[in-house]
Amino acid sequence: MEHPENESQYIGLTVNEGVAQPPVTNPYFVRRKRKPLPSVDEMVSGILAGDVTMLSRAVTLVESLVPEHQQLAQEVIEKCLPHSGNSRRIGITGVPGAGKSTSIDVFGLHVLRDGGKLAVLAIDPSSERTRGSILGDKTRMEKLSTHPGAFIRPSPSAGSLGGVARKTRETIVLCEAAGYNNIFVETVGVGQSETAVHSMVDFFLLIQLAGTGDELQGIKRGIMEMADGIVINKADGDNVDRARLAQAQFKSALRLFPPTASGWSPEVLTYSGYFELGIPEVWEMIDRYFEYVKGNGYFERRRREQARYWMYETINEQLRNRFYNDPEIESMLADREAAVLDNRQSSFIAARDVLEYYFKNKL
Ligand code: GDP
Repeated sequence: MEHPENESQYIGLTVNEGVAQPPVTNPYFVRRKRKPLPSVDEMVSGILAGDVTMLSRAVTLVESLVPEHQQLAQEVIEKCLPHSGNSRRIGITGVPGAGKSTSIDVFGLHVLRDGGKLAVLAIDPSSERTRGSILGDKTRMEKLSTHPGAFIRPSPSAGSLGGVARKTRETIVLCEAAGYNNIFVETVGVGQSETAVHSMVDFFLLIQLAGTGDELQGIKRGIMEMADGIVINKADGDNVDRARLAQAQFKSALRLFPPTASGWSPEVLTYSGYFELGIPEVWEMIDRYFEYVKGNGYFERRRREQARYWMYETINEQLRNRFYNDPEIESMLADREAAVLDNRQSSFIAARDVLEYYFKNKL
């Protein structure tokens, strides 16, 4: 090829022929077509047969924001409902570092020692985790993740707490229909999500740590009040005495609490998730609890109350979504918000006007 730059007047500058570059796309890559969605009946019969792939696909639909997916998911859930309910639902909470992952790994293996199946779900509304991090969740629970009886699913990704929690609750229905007779719902013990978890489990386990000297500080009273059992982790090595001390402190703190609705007195135990010490004792406590609440009718009552709670939660969530996602309302809200911030309008009048408009024109 001719290059005018190579003429003698441009001495010192030579332009060489370039090297042919490989194509930027991989010629061997064949884009695979997305698998078409299975029908509702296919999904339901797959789930009922314990097919994990179908279960995962249905859970993905539950979590999807696409309206058609949600519609499908609702149909699947409805058909699975009659087959659900037959499990122990256990909520597990504790601050980050308390040892939840380590403990769930060993608790899970303990629960599965005589067979059965276990689903581990999570509620973490702050979570931005996407599908890629399912791996992250699986590596957190190393032994359990390779166990054929375990199904581990990370928290639905970030959204309103109500929305995230509802999805987890619906996932419980699907897992139970697929034969999972043990359900763990994990949450990070730092916020409101405990209340949400408490509203969908039969037993609420609070994992605590000893050794800070002021054990009872920083634990919200409300969380302690919800706990059916408190377990102090890392009772190993030098930490055993401190764990025992913390146990005594928790026990005496619990005595000051009003009696629980179940009539059960929450117990406090120490254990070590890492060294696998005291694990059977924790599960004996949980077995005792189930025996107790099934005997006095509280088990059924709590589940019925939870069902009612979720009816209202679902209504509230849908109303809120419809309202706030309406484009006209959105722009009206922006105007009124500015007016309220500028002191041009009172918050009550602004709210009344927007709501009146909505009720008149949108319902
Ligand atoms: P999570 O954030 O609550 O899920 O806590 P992890 O399970 O990730 O545990 C946090 C840290 O505590 C990790 O470094 C664990 O190895 C450690 N750990 C967990 N359980 C125990 C235990 O029983 N004893 C001791 N000494 N360390 C533990």
